[in-house]
Amino acid sequence: MPKKPTAKRATSRTRKSKPRQYVYFFGDGKADGNRNMKDLLGGKGSGLAEMTNAGLPVPPGFTISTEVCTLFSKAKGRIPEAIDREIDAYVRKLEKAAGATLGSTENPLLVSVRSGAKFSMPGMMDTILNLGLNDLAVEGLKRRTGNGRFAFDSYRRFIQMFGSVVLEIPKAAFEHEFEAVKAACGARLDTDLDEAALRGVVQRFKQVVQKRAKRDFPQDPRVQLSMSRDAVFRSWMNPRAIEYRRIYDIPDHIGTAVNVQMMVFGNIGDRSATGVGFTRNPATGKKEFYGEFLINAQGEDVVAGIRTPQPITELERVLPKAYRQLRAFTTKLEKHYKDIQDFEFTIQDERLFMLQTRSGKRTGYAAVVIATDLVAEKLLTPKEAILLVDPESLSQLLAPGFDPVEWKKLPVATRGLPASPGAASGQVVFTSERAVEWSQEGKKVILVRRETVPDDIHGMFVSQGILTATGGMTSHAAVVGRQMGKASIVGAGALEIDETARQFSVSGHTVKEGEYISFDGLSGEVKLAQVASKPSEILQVLEGTLDAKKSHIYQRFERLLSWADKYRRMGVRANADQPDQAAIAYAFGARGIGLCRTEHMFFGEGRIPIVQKMILADNEADRRAALQELLPLQREDFYGVFKAMRGAAVTIRTIDPPLHEFLPKREDLMVDVARLETAGKTGRELDEKRALLRRVEQLHEFNPMLGHRGVRLGITYPEITEMQTRAILEAACRLNTEGLKVVPEIMIPLVGLVTELRHQKAVVDRVAVAVMKEQGIKIKYLVGTMIEVPRGAVTADQVATEAQFFSFGTNDLTQLTFGFSRDDVGKFLRVYQERKILEKDPFASIDTEGVGALVRMAAQLGRKTRPDLKLGVCGEHGGDAASIHFFESVGLTYVSASPYRIPVARLAAAQAALAVRVGD
Ligand code: ADP
Ligand code: MG
Ligand code: MG
Repeated sequence: MPKKPTAKRATSRTRKSKPRQYVYFFGDGKADGNRNMKDLLGGKGSGLAEMTNAGLPVPPGFTISTEVCTLFSKAKGRIPEAIDREIDAYVRKLEKAAGATLGSTENPLLVSVRSGAKFSMPGMMDTILNLGLNDLAVEGLKRRTGNGRFAFDSYRRFIQMFGSVVLEIPKAAFEHEFEAVKAACGARLDTDLDEAALRGVVQRFKQVVQKRAKRDFPQDPRVQLSMSRDAVFRSWMNPRAIEYRRIYDIPDHIGTAVNVQMMVFGNIGDRSATGVGFTRNPATGKKEFYGEFLINAQGEDVVAGIRTPQPITELERVLPKAYRQLRAFTTKLEKHYKDIQDFEFTIQDERLFMLQTRSGKRTGYAAVVIATDLVAEKLLTPKEAILLVDPESLSQLLAPGFDPVEWKKLPVATRGLPASPGAASGQVVFTSERAVEWSQEGKKVILVRRETVPDDIHGMFVSQGILTATGGMTSHAAVVGRQMGKASIVGAGALEIDETARQFSVSGHTVKEGEYISFDGLSGEVKLAQVASKPSEILQVLEGTLDAKKSHIYQRFERLLSWADKYRRMGVRANADQPDQAAIAYAFGARGIGLCRTEHMFFGEGRIPIVQKMILADNEADRRAALQELLPLQREDFYGVFKAMRGAAVTIRTIDPPLHEFLPKREDLMVDVARLETAGKTGRELDEKRALLRRVEQLHEFNPMLGHRGVRLGITYPEITEMQTRAILEAACRLNTEGLKVVPEIMIPLVGLVTELRHQKAVVDRVAVAVMKEQGIKIKYLVGTMIEVPRGAVTADQVATEAQFFSFGTNDLTQLTFGFSRDDVGKFLRVYQERKILEKDPFASIDTEGVGALVRMAAQLGRKTRPDLKLGVCGEHGGDAASIHFFESVGLTYVSASPYRIPVARLAAAQAALAVRVGD
């Protein structure tokens, strides 16, 4: 769903202008709001308004705006009196439209009080149904409908919901009583209870309220309404809603709206029903009507997993007229919104009512299929289609699947509903707490639950997959699993889960906590073993093991990204150090390398001893000798990387890390030396270890990240820069003779002073001239710098006198701007986020106000000196959608990301160029 980086709010008006509207009506084919008012009305409220305006049958009601939620919080949980009066007026207006009165004993109006924020947060906040019932009104409802069973079924639902949501009585207290009555009547299903039994339930529920809340169940509908409204506003700040917003990056300040809407009843008898659905399959994207319903049921029954719902296609047989209408309305909605719709409906005595519509949450796979299909169906232009896909969700398409051969070897233990595709393999856990604990220890876990509840969100987030025993395709686990892109299977009814004993049994086997299982979220099959996975279809195509023509998803993926490429302004490069990484990055669409870290090459096979020789040398001649050995190896590396990029720009960074990183650990060496000494051994091994230890001690630094590294190394040991420059230029010359023109970009890291860069540039130029002369070839090359030290950013105008390009090293820049060590930030970051001292992890998404300000300033200063200065970014932020939007606003030339993030970066860069933030 399109999302602007910050929610736009109406600003305060002057006193003279019309008093601000806090409540918006919908009903009788007309609504005050519309689809563009999500900020104010929330997604649900704006959808109800839009459907009303489109002439769809929506029960009338009104929306109390999100602004009231903010006022409510500010006033410590109270609604300003004027707004209270405004709401009262709308209650009367609703009574008129409904032709019924709250609390009436003849014709009582019943309403729902529904939460609904700008971004949908499934099941995170509260909703109350059947409000308005009391001891007298329930008789009125019975008289009006001639259905006592129904009236008391509604009343007991209301007391339970009100009791748990508003009075915060544990649901179990009500369920306990309900089960007792069912047992006493010998009823199997809720629907088996008759009026008398339900009257008994109501009595018991009122006692529960009395006992637990120490007050009578409120009989006055206006009191019921204001208490419920306040509870919904409060639910915005409940811990699970806060946690959800943290995960999905939804700001806390935007608040929820409250919708008060006339009730319609799906629980009035066998010609009534309630259900939910999608206009397309949200797991696979396939164009098929998709959903579930229950006869004689209300609201939450479908998602709660108490009764197993029927597939929506069955509705055609049972209630054909309503089914046909539903298809027609939802098709119309999909055309109107130009996106897959997720809808809720209720049929009351064969009459269809629409209760909600919104853009459906979908898997990354489905997102790509739907976006490309809608273009093929001419509902969308390519430009619109690229705004339909959350860039982050593309990474789901690159996730591995099982090796089909290995998978087939194992017997199927059970099958469930394939709620969200993906291959999951891991150790079984039964609680979210355990899932979090174990995953922090680096274990891969699968969360197995009877059903998930919104409180499970943190456990689901860290699991490989989610497996539940109950629930349908639209249950909580299914919806959240799809949205997170987690492999999920729901409704695997054969699982007998014993959460206290931490085990489940299925088909004669018992699986204990910690044992491995695997499942395929696309087929719904569960197996009781660990199974190796294999690369995704897209990766197989890119690696050449699968023919592109045989992979539908690859073709669509490629089509979508090629549309994105048309609209993006920034280039997309890769951070890649080796030829094979560069090749995969090229295949993912990277055109250029933004960061090739030469030291990673030093760690290659058989190279460490040579590197150590270089470091251990105590004179320049020995050092040069060792470097001479490294030269051909580096040249080979550069040759490979240039070649893999097929002539696109390659930025190579000269050595950056402190030298001790290439040597053994001091403690280990001390142990070795001591061991040799106590064993009385003398000779070469001991001498070598001692020499190494001495050198390691010399190189020891208290703050290596602030120590002898980056350009500082190049200045103290210019022969390293010389060797690297020679290797780069010689590789370029060789390719030139082979007919591939490359333009190397040599990048000096950690520059804070223009004089540092001037020094290194002189070294590079001197060697380059020498190499070109030797080879008799002229190569165009650039010398530039990383901007990653705040001083470098602040003096960027000076730095640009030497630098032909800048690349923002936002990892170090973040580290040095905050003074946070990237490797130690974990110790306090979580607390910072919980206490709202810092909203986001600045290493994951750029801190636009601080670090970003330095980037912006350096870009402007640099371009003032050198208007054609190339500007790139090569920190982790180059693959983060939110950061990419920021880099677009600063006008960078390109972003550079790790190979697997390239598709995300391509799409995000296009969306950034179109100035639409997509993500949910
Ligand atoms: P959520 O956002 O959790 O889906 P909703 O506000 O949509 O919460 O409501 C929960 C359930 O109650 C849904 O199934 C919805 O269709 C049903 N419901 C809400 N309002 C009404 C109403 N006025 N009449 C009948 N059912 C309703
Ligand atoms: Mg809903
Ligand atoms: Mg750095």
